[in-house]
Amino acid sequence: MAKLYGLIGFPVKHSYSAIMHNAAFREMGIEARYELFEVKAENLEEEFGKKVRQGICGLNITIPYKEKIIEWVDKLQQEARLIGAVNTIKIDKDKTTWGFNTDGLGFITHLQEVINFNPEGKKTAVLGAGGVARAVSVSLAQNKAKEISLFDIDKERALKLKEMLEANFSACVVRTVSEADDLLQEELDLLVNATPCGMHRGDPLLINPYKLSKRLFVYDLIYNPGETPLLSEAKKRKCAGIFNGLGMLLYQGALAFKIWLEVDPPIKVMEQALKEAMSQYAA
Ligand code: NAP
Repeated sequence: MAKLYGLIGFPVKHSYSAIMHNAAFREMGIEARYELFEVKAENLEEEFGKKVRQGICGLNITIPYKEKIIEWVDKLQQEARLIGAVNTIKIDKDKTTWGFNTDGLGFITHLQEVINFNPEGKKTAVLGAGGVARAVSVSLAQNKAKEISLFDIDKERALKLKEMLEANFSACVVRTVSEADDLLQEELDLLVNATPCGMHRGDPLLINPYKLSKRLFVYDLIYNPGETPLLSEAKKRKCAGIFNGLGMLLYQGALAFKIWLEVDPPIKVMEQALKEAMSQYAA
C-alpha cells in the first residue's frame, strides 16, 4: 500500500508542497503520495490523532498550527523546542511522533549555499516575529549574524523573540524597533519579510522604499505572488539581492523529505516542479 504524507493547516489550498513532494516520490520510484488536509482549529487534535492512528508516515504543519501542534507531539527536536514551532512531523511504526522545524535550516541553506550570502558579522533585520520569523532569526543567530533588528505590529511578540534570542545567543546584538522604517539603518545588509503582508493585492508596503539601499539583500518569505510590492521596490532601487520565498520552501521541504525517508531528495526535480507550479498558478 502506498505510504501517506501530508500537510495540515488552514487554509492549505494555496500550498505547493504536494506538487513538490509528489514529484520527488515519482522521480525516486517511491510508492507514496502527499495530500493537503485543511483542518479547522477545533478539530486539530482529533484530526491529528486520527491521521497518526491510521498510519500516516509524515506531516508538514503550516499556518496557523505550527505552535499549537507541539502539545500533541511525543518527542521534540531541540531546534523546534528553541523556535517554539514544528513544521515537520515524523511518525514511527509504533506511532511515536517526532516534531522538527526545518524552516530555519531551509532558509539558511538557501541563503548561504544558493545566494552565497554569509550572515556572519552582518547586520540583519526581520519584519515580523511570528513562527517563521522565530525560525529565521534563530538560524541567523546560529550563523553568527552580528545584529538582528526586529519589528512586529505585536510589540510583545517582538520583545519575546528578542528575549529568547538574547538568552541563547549572547554574541548577537538583538534590538526591537517601534517603527518598521527604523529597521533600515544605513549599514543594514539583509532585510527579511516574515509577515504575510504582501500576499494580497493592495497590501501596504511596510517600509519607506526610499530607505532601501543598493547594498541591501532583500528576502521576502512570501512566494505567491512571486514579486511582492517590497520586492518590486527593491528591484527599482537596484538592491544587491532580491529573493522571494520559493528557495526557502524548496529547502525546508527537501529537509522534511530527508527526515521522513532518510534518503537524499531529488532537489532539482522538486525545484522544477515548484517553478512549473509558479508559472501555472502564481498570482
Ligand atoms: P505568523 O505566525 O502569523 O506571523 C506573522 C507575524 O507578522 C505576526 O506576528 C503578525 O502579527 C505580524 N504581522 C502581520 N502584519 C504585520 C504588519 N503589517 N507589520 C508588522 N508585523 C505584521 O505567520 P508565519 O507562520 O510566521 O508566516 C509568515 C509568512 O511567512 C507567511 O504569510 C508566508 O507568506 C511566509 N512563509 C513562507 C515560507 C516559505 O517556505 N517560503 C514558509 C512559511 C511561511 P499579527 O498576528 O498581530 O497579525
